[in-house]
Amino acid sequence: MRCKICNSSNVKEEYNGLIRDGGLGRYTKKNVSMYRCADCGVIWHEKIYKADEYYQTDTYRNSLEGTIKESDFYKLHDKESLAKLTYTGTEIYRDSVVADIGCGCGAFLDYVNGVAKKVVAIEPAEFYREVLNRKGFYTYSYAREAKDRFANNVDVVTSFDVIEHVESPQDFLLDVYELLKVGGRAFIGTPTETPIMRSLLGKMYDMKLLFSTQHIWIFSKESLRMMADKVGFLPQNIKFKYYQRYGIGNMLGWLKFQEPKKDIQNDFITKTLDDVWKRESEKQELADYIVLEIEK
Ligand SMILES: [Zn+2]
Repeated sequence: MRCKICNSSNVKEEYNGLIRDGGLGRYTKKNVSMYRCADCGVIWHEKIYKADEYYQTDTYRNSLEGTIKESDFYKLHDKESLAKLTYTGTEIYRDSVVADIGCGCGAFLDYVNGVAKKVVAIEPAEFYREVLNRKGFYTYSYAREAKDRFANNVDVVTSFDVIEHVESPQDFLLDVYELLKVGGRAFIGTPTETPIMRSLLGKMYDMKLLFSTQHIWIFSKESLRMMADKVGFLPQNIKFKYYQRYGIGNMLGWLKFQEPKKDIQNDFITKTLDDVWKRESEKQELADYIVLEIEK
């Protein structure tokens, strides 16, 4: 077996067991093998479903969130917009052409729309595209379809929690490259393998949270760098930032209850302590989220 990102034959089975199937607490019926490339560090599973069909219909959202209602989307996702603006800064959007790939109902784009010149909303789910059209965004199912009108025309591409779902992340980054104008920038955010949590929690964390049917890939910095380089981004224009999204109360909750989503709340866990946990995880590149920042 060869690595699907760097073609190395230095690939080993990292895990074999049940993995998360949709939302928390739901698991596959059969064991799934997760593979890891020792050279570029990417982790993946072999295709379990046909991604295109899966994301076009309501199956994905229902499996993950139990709803496809527009109002529910905002309840679940509006809170993420602040973090996304932290990853990108706010100053790049004014008078810009902005494309968000995998934008759902456009919760994040609603904020960007206030200052942007044009907003391009890319989302495979038809029921969300109706909402995006209603908002007056340039709406497409896939980035490749947006290229007819917007190739070499986009100032800022954002895409958060999407690249780990696509069958060909290399093609995904090529679409990003082709959409961007020269000097345009893209921010691609994806969960990491969270080395600190894995070392503390082991297989329980792999099974209950990290490995999931819907995430085909868990990217390392090196695997993202190699793909960006291959599609044409210059080495000096490929950068990374790490973010720790989950606080120390979450990690302590895992240790106490052996479950995700039961954060420990205690007077001892102050904002200062939480900030130290987050900043130190980020500095040591052990954090749970990585943002690839690329400029054409
Ligand atoms: Zn590799």
